[in-house]
Order: sequence, then structure tokens, then C-alpha cells
Amino acid sequence: MNARLDPHSAAAGAGATPAEVLDVVVVGAGISGVGAAYHLATQSPGTRFLVLESKDTFGGTWITHRYPGIRSDSDLYTFGYRFKPWMGAPIATAAEILKYMGEVIDENGLGERIRYRHAIERASWSSTDRVWTLAVHRLDTGERLTIATRFLWMCQGYYRHQAGYTPQWPGMETFGGRIVHPQAWPEDFDASGKRVVVIGSGATAATLVPALAGHCGHVTMLQRSPTWFVTGRNANVLADMLRELDLPPEWIHEIVRRKILFDQKALQARAFSDPDGLAADLLANVRAHVGDAVDVDRHFTPRYKPWRQRIAFIPDADLFKAVREGQASVVTDEIERFTPTGLLLKSGESLEADVIVTATGFELSVLGDIPFDIDGRPLDFAATVGWRGAMFTGVPNLVWVFGYFRASWTLRVDLLGDLVCRLLAHMRERGASVVTPALRPTEADMPLRPWVEPENFSPGYLARGGALLPKQGDRAPWIHSQDYGFDKDDLPAADLDDGSLVYE
Ligand SMILES: Cc1cc2nc3c(=O)[nH]c(=O)nc-3n(C[C@H](O)[C@H](O)[C@H](O)COP(=O)(O)OP(=O)(O)OC[C@H]3O[C@@H](n4cnc5c(N)ncnc54)[C@H](O)[C@@H]3O)c2cc1C
Repeated sequence: MNARLDPHSAAAGAGATPAEVLDVVVVGAGISGVGAAYHLATQSPGTRFLVLESKDTFGGTWITHRYPGIRSDSDLYTFGYRFKPWMGAPIATAAEILKYMGEVIDENGLGERIRYRHAIERASWSSTDRVWTLAVHRLDTGERLTIATRFLWMCQGYYRHQAGYTPQWPGMETFGGRIVHPQAWPEDFDASGKRVVVIGSGATAATLVPALAGHCGHVTMLQRSPTWFVTGRNANVLADMLRELDLPPEWIHEIVRRKILFDQKALQARAFSDPDGLAADLLANVRAHVGDAVDVDRHFTPRYKPWRQRIAFIPDADLFKAVREGQASVVTDEIERFTPTGLLLKSGESLEADVIVTATGFELSVLGDIPFDIDGRPLDFAATVGWRGAMFTGVPNLVWVFGYFRASWTLRVDLLGDLVCRLLAHMRERGASVVTPALRPTEADMPLRPWVEPENFSPGYLARGGALLPKQGDRAPWIHSQDYGFDKDDLPAADLDDGSLVYE
């Protein structure tokens, strides 16, 4: 059976009734949830688990986003799982990522574990029963179910899937054309002959602009300030060479992952040790691609140091090619207001448009916006401290997969897969049914810091919603490192009996 073609198959059959307590519920069937299911099935056989997903198929981010050109911005050797070799070009389309995930589901018999169109609307922990009770809305039948589980593995991502973030500008209602957010791309959208303005300069805008160029009248990227970009061929020379040597795909996958991680570490180190040198190199690269077509100082020289936000990768320099060839242009300015025919900018200039695309980002969602309570008391995640960025003080039997910003998200999916399976085995050995992180007496006065330090990483959705996130401490195991290099040693070595986890 092809899981991609038959997403409905696993929705058949009732979920567990409260009498049947599951061992684990995985929330979400995106790249994290499918990875969690794989690790449970392979590392913790015998675990009774279900994946609950509100959409009608798997894929998460790669189903929600359907705008032209949608593709990964990290390489699939590391955005793919460690256990399934990636065979294609490093930067992949959403369709290719979905095909890969579908194969993981099919090859490991995970389809029967996934319940689609099951939206979790509330999660309540009972200390008496030692279970999470989930209020689930079956979106296909309208039924309300109750599903009980001992452990919750939250793989619901980090942003609201229902709608993206659109700032409100004066005069929006007067605009005579169409306003589109990339997260809700209209199926009937036809760009031909239209003047399109894309507001934004992040990875989404940088994908959309070349995808629209040549298919519309003209496309303009309107940015408040520039972003760092790096270009490269959408190919991996090492992978191609190793394939020619006829090495097994598993070897190639592992070797290429290591090389990519090695190179990324070097780039990251340089971003901190030699930010000016790195900036000069990145700008020289942009200049080489755009030539005299655009003022690089004005439109492609960011105000922040490289790596404060993800450096967007432009495969085959397609954005710059579109600019050089005149199909796309870049305007760096601010919006004063929308007008019936386009935009009036703060500089006094006007931009005429038939379509305005607001590539202005996401709305942060903490644990899927699900209301949580513990013994009837509403849970405020902002008042908790993260244990290795995965579990939370005072919150029993719950793990959240929050991946990396600068490295591929999925690297952490695999690391946390190992950790959760080890923790579940450890609980069985100890005869414990509850595990709750708790600060030890010496940590009670530990200074608390934001979940993500703003000076370390500062995208808009974190600036807007960061206060809702849990805190981190100033020492292990309360640090949320956002560093794969640190986690790959720390997580497998985590001492589960050091007193920071309380078992009952
Ligand atoms: C356009 C775009 C491109 C990106 N490219 C990259 C990239 O190249 N590399 C990278 O590392 N990261 C990238 N990211 C970040 C990306 O979101 C993550 O890497 C990754 O896809 C997140 O996977 P996830 O499974 O954790 O969450 P998601 O993909 O967000 O999936 C979460 C799933 O949980 C479900 N869900 C949520 N709440 C509930 C509920 N209450 N009940 C039931 N189900 C629920 C959702 O329906 C969804 O299917 C990108 C993000 C976007 C938006």
C-alpha cells in the first residue's frame, strides 16, 4: 500500500477508549511524528502507541505549504532521517519530502498506527490515574473521543498551521487586487500577466520570487531590510562521487551527513570568529551573480551579522538569476499604506500590484495551542523550565520535539527518538509509571533565561510570541542548546538518575 495515496486507511477503526490506556500518544504526523513512530516501533517494540494527526494525511509543514516552488531550505541528507538514505538532490521539493516520508511509513508498517483527522483539543493529567486524557475531535465523523495515554510525545511543530502571520497595514481593505499569504495559497491562483509584490525577504520570499518570475508579468520582492543568502549548486559532489564508486546507500548517507555537519560547524564557527570576513564573502558571491542589475549595498547587505537568523540557501542562485534577467526586482523600503492599486512606501514611492503576497512569517504555537491541565489546574508552559529542551518541570510524562533553527530539525528528531525510548525502558526497569523533571535544591535560585536567547536567534515569530515559551536555566540539564554538536554527545549520555528527573 502506498501511504501517500491512501491517507484514509489508517483513520478506520476507533481510537482507544478510556478503558484501554495506551503507552504513548504521538501528537502530529509531520517529520517529527513519523520519526517518533519509527523509533517507538523499532527501539521499543511492544509499546502500544498511536499517532494522532488532525490533517487527512501525513507531512505537516510539507502539506500546509503549497505555494509555488515550495522546497526545503536545508539539505535532505540531514533533514532526512539518519535511518533512511536520501537518494536525491540535496534541496528537495515538498512532493519529494512527502514521498520519502510515505516510504518510511510503508516500509515500517506505521500506517496502521496513525489516526488522521483526529484533532486533540485538550490534554489533562490525572495524578491519581497517572494518565493523560485527551479530548479528541474526529474531524471526519464529528465524533468526540476520549483517548487515555501514559506518555505524550508532542510532535506538533512550533507554528500555527491554520493561518500565517499577516501584519495589519492601513488601507488594506481598499486594495483592489488579491492579498495572499503563502501558508494559505489559493488553488485557483493564476499569476500570468500579473504584477506581483511579495512582502518579505526570508526563505519563503526567496523561494517564491524565482518560482513566480517568468510566470507572471513581473515580481517584486519588497523587503524592510535584507537577508543573508548563500548560493550553491543543488547537488552534492561527495554524494555523487560516492555513488559512482557504487558504495551502499547507507554508507553514502552517513558519510555525506558527516561532511555536511562538519562544513556547517566550520561556517558557524566562522560566523562568530570572523563575521566581517564571512559577510564580505557572502556579499562578493551575491555581486558575482547579480552583476550591475541591482545595488547590492542597499538591497542585499543585511543590518545584522550573518547567522543571527538562518542563512537562506538559494539553490542554483535562482533568485539572483531572476533579478539579473529583469524578471524580478528588489525594493528595500517600508510600507506606508495599501492603496486601491498597490502600495505607497515610506520613501514616497508607489508600487503598483495586482497581487500582494504577504510572506511575513508564522504565528508561534506553543504545544499546538492545546489547553493543558494537571489535576484540573491550567498549565502555563511559560512558568516551566525545560529539561534539555525536551521535558518541562512539573509536567509529567511529556516530551516536546523542538528541532534546530540553524541545522536540520530532523537531527533532533532522531536524537530525541533515542532518548525517549531509553527513558521508557528505564522507567520499565525502575517500575516507575511517572517521570517529572524537577529543579534540585541547588538549582532553585538558578537564573532563568528565555527559551531562545534573542541575541542568539531572533526571527519575528519568536520576537512576537517568545514570552509564551518555557524558560531555560544556566546549566545542564536545563539548557536548551539549539546546538546539534552539543546535543549529539549530551543526549545519549544523559544520566536519567541524576535527580533532575523524579520517578513515581
Ligand atoms: C515552508 C517551510 C520550510 C521549512 N524548511 C525547513 C528546512 O528546510 N529545514 C528545516 O530544518 N526546517 C525547515 N522548516 C521548519 C519545519 O517546520 C520543521 O523542520 C519540520 O518540518 C517540523 O516538523 P514537525 O513534524 O515537528 O512539525 P510540523 O511539520 O509543523 O507538523 C506538525 C503536525 O502536527 C499536527 N498537529 C498540530 N496540532 C495538532 C493537534 N492539536 N492535534 C492533532 N494534530 C496536530 C499538524 O497538523 C501537523 O501535521 C520549514 C518550515 C516551513 C514553514
